[in-house]
Amino acid sequence: MTGPTTPEDLSAFHDDRYPSSRPAFELFQSRRTTVGNITVRRALPKRQRRTIGAWCFADHFGPELLSDKQGMDVGPHPHIGLQTATWLLEGELVHRDSLGSEQMIRPGELNLMTAGKGVSHSEESPGKRSSIHGIQLWIAQPNETRNGEPAFEHHNSLPEANIDNATATVLVGSFGGATSSARSDTPIVGVQVTIGIGSTILELRKDFEYGLIVLEGIVTHQNLAVTPGNLAYFPMGRNEIMLTSQEPSILMLLGGKPFSESLLMWWNFVARTHGELDEARQDWNSHSQRFGIVNSKLDSIPAPTLQL
Ligand code: MN
Repeated sequence: MTGPTTPEDLSAFHDDRYPSSRPAFELFQSRRTTVGNITVRRALPKRQRRTIGAWCFADHFGPELLSDKQGMDVGPHPHIGLQTATWLLEGELVHRDSLGSEQMIRPGELNLMTAGKGVSHSEESPGKRSSIHGIQLWIAQPNETRNGEPAFEHHNSLPEANIDNATATVLVGSFGGATSSARSDTPIVGVQVTIGIGSTILELRKDFEYGLIVLEGIVTHQNLAVTPGNLAYFPMGRNEIMLTSQEPSILMLLGGKPFSESLLMWWNFVARTHGELDEARQDWNSHSQRFGIVNSKLDSIPAPTLQL
């Protein structure tokens, strides 16, 4: 017999509550990159893991102090075929879009924009700049809705569930008996979990796969530490995840039924074919009416060259 060489093996060795046939979990490193002067940890997509349910993109940004000259200033840019979900732990952002929406978002609130066949938006740090900390997520739209009309929702209060040693705030879907009224086009769940010192059990759906992103603090699962900059992936088939923490921690739990349609994701677009991507790219760069106009002082971001 050889010793454990992967996290999956470790879990089978160290946790005898679970049979070794239990679905493994995987720990990935997020990739560091920048968005509008802000450093982000990109947890999704990974080469080895493109989606979790319909969740197809996750950028954890901050906590970072902003100067007057430096902010999360992302000028007008387009999207197709996805929803953007913005969630803050600290700071403020102003969302403006081609539907005419202008919405300040603060911690505990959700901005959810549905691109459908085409929308454009900007995200700007408002005049008073302090610190910023949050996550931006994208949710792939299914064939039934991805060519539909764009839409925008702001939720300034979201349902909470008290679970053992933790509080869950439900952004999308249902968790712990609480259900968000935010739009979802496929079966998914998105939850912020604030956990205290000690052990916490998160109850899961067996028909969902899940990803866990630590926004603040540190948790351990089967003797492996999950920190900001990691993505912990849990395949379908689990009833629960047990986490322990030595300090109060804040997590984002994302889940859903595995997305069955094959996606092509490029720049800010989620599509199915290269032709769709190229058409969207040309429509944006030629200022077509498809993506409308955003009332922003920032410069629009041109689409890069599409290399097929
Ligand atoms: Mn965007």
